[in-house]
Amino acid sequence: MKHPVKTILALAALGCCSLTAHAADKTCKLEITGNDMMQYDKKELTVAKDCTQVELTLKHAGKLPATAMGHNWVLTRAADASAVASAGMSAGAAKNYVDDSDKRIIAHTKVVGGGESTSVTFPMSALKAGESYTFECTFPGHSALMNGKLVIG
Ligand code: ZN
Repeated sequence: MKHPVKTILALAALGCCSLTAHAADKTCKLEITGNDMMQYDKKELTVAKDCTQVELTLKHAGKLPATAMGHNWVLTRAADASAVASAGMSAGAAKNYVDDSDKRIIAHTKVVGGGESTSVTFPMSALKAGESYTFECTFPGHSALMNGKLVIG
């Protein structure tokens, strides 16, 4: 009797877990483009409530190198955005203008130059419904123009 019981339990476990993982896994993809005129092409990005993960791709459609017109994408609560941009400037180019130890940063990409792209994936659990979120470029001088809202909708 030992063997059949084991088999049934193994099948039950397999059924349960693979089904759960499949149903719960929804990676939502977002895309934003920066250019040589210090602009993002979007002022607002929306993620659906039922996403489990968000994959953001940042493209640089310009021609200027990262040292002159680099762009990154940094996500914080709206209230933290300007302080995070200042801290990023102090962190410097070698750190992609991001202070890695800064707990206010929810997600960020590296800095890219013209023709390059990069992406970052973060869990939806990092976001709370009802909170306001801002994304911005923390390359020195860019955040005043390069920013927008991330909306959970
Ligand atoms: Zn920028």
